[in-house]
Amino acid sequence: MDNCVFCKIIKGDIPSYKVYEDDTVCAFLDIMPVNKGHILVVPREHHEDIFSTPEEILGKIMAAIKKITPAVLKASRAEGFNLLLNNGIASGQIVEHLHFHIIPRVHNDRLKLWEGGAYESGEAEEIQIAIRTNIDDSKAK
Ligand code: 5GP
Ligand code: ZN
Repeated sequence: MDNCVFCKIIKGDIPSYKVYEDDTVCAFLDIMPVNKGHILVVPREHHEDIFSTPEEILGKIMAAIKKITPAVLKASRAEGFNLLLNNGIASGQIVEHLHFHIIPRVHNDRLKLWEGGAYESGEAEEIQIAIRTNIDDSKAK
């Protein structure tokens, strides 16, 4: 896609620090790292989000993440990582080319991704039923 920053990075039209490439996947340093070694893992093909990305490609992205992450942790001397997907504008997705964030973590790095809340009485059952009845089994493989 012509005006997509990640497509331009994949093609080499704008510079980046790539750490991994194969036929399907590309991974490079995030330009504004949450922690040092913060990586973005993206499909080479332009797909906007997880819903529009074929499952075969999603599988290859996950395989690449599993392959890359031990090296990311070693290089950034991290003890763990967060794997993050912002899917949709409401979630904070800015670049509309599917990407998974690998965010290296160390103990007490003070990064707090979210605050947990609580359900009022009956709410958990209500949302459980709503989700279960809305799952579209016709797409299940
Ligand atoms: P989002 O909020 O869409 O999940 O995250 C987009 C990420 O892309 C951000 O963390 C941002 O720092 C990163 N980013 C945006 N533009 C560029 C760029 O030109 N180069 C690189 N390497 N990362 C970028
Ligand atoms: Zn793109």
